[in-house]
Amino acid sequence: MSFVVAIDGPSGTGKGTIAKLIAQELDLVNIDTGAMYRCIALACLTEGITNNEERERIIEIARRVEIQIRHNGVEQEIFLDNRNVSKEIRSQEVTMMASQVSAIPEVREIMVNLQRKMAEGEDVIMEGRDIATEVFPNAQVKIYLDATSEERANRRYKENQEKGINSDMTYEQVLKTIEKRDYDDSHRTVGALKIAEGAIVVDTTKMTIEEVKEKVKEIILERRK
Ligand code: C5P
Repeated sequence: MSFVVAIDGPSGTGKGTIAKLIAQELDLVNIDTGAMYRCIALACLTEGITNNEERERIIEIARRVEIQIRHNGVEQEIFLDNRNVSKEIRSQEVTMMASQVSAIPEVREIMVNLQRKMAEGEDVIMEGRDIATEVFPNAQVKIYLDATSEERANRRYKENQEKGINSDMTYEQVLKTIEKRDYDDSHRTVGALKIAEGAIVVDTTKMTIEEVKEKVKEIILERRK
């Protein structure tokens, strides 16, 4: 069996950054599962679907589209039907729609199967909301990253400004979005965000990225012995 590091937690806890750094240092394949739900959301928006009332059409899209994560050095590039959508899937519109499509159980089932397939025969670090609870309940390492919503909004706001993504959003708007997503992600019927049995919780509120990385690395190395 392959070695699986499962990282879950709400948005803005640094899951993506940490997974990328650790993948590089420990030679693991990094899989960003949020990007996959974002792809479904983008495909829906492109076809004029803006909420999850059109369930059947969304499920049909999730079945039909091809999602690939290609690794270009340390960067993950996300392809939707062979088109690089890495930047497009970070827009605010896609972010809110991703939260909606991810509440549909059939969509989750398709994504979870794809995630398991992507990990076949590989040593992976996979991050999302339900990795240790649903995708890999037997993962060798289960980590739940957390932080206060204010701190997470602060980080996301700064990141938006630096990367020029959604840079017109104020801190208050970012905070509101984060709180809405937290609520939706933890109240859905399937794959809800929660701490998995046996997961180690790391509260990153007062930690730097470097400190979180070292802590998570220490946990992984202990289990990998
Ligand atoms: O992590 P990221 O912010 O890119 O995730 C986008 C959305 O995809 C989340 O708000 C969540 O609703 C959904 N998601 C999920 N399960 C995962 C990863 C992400 O439902 N494993």
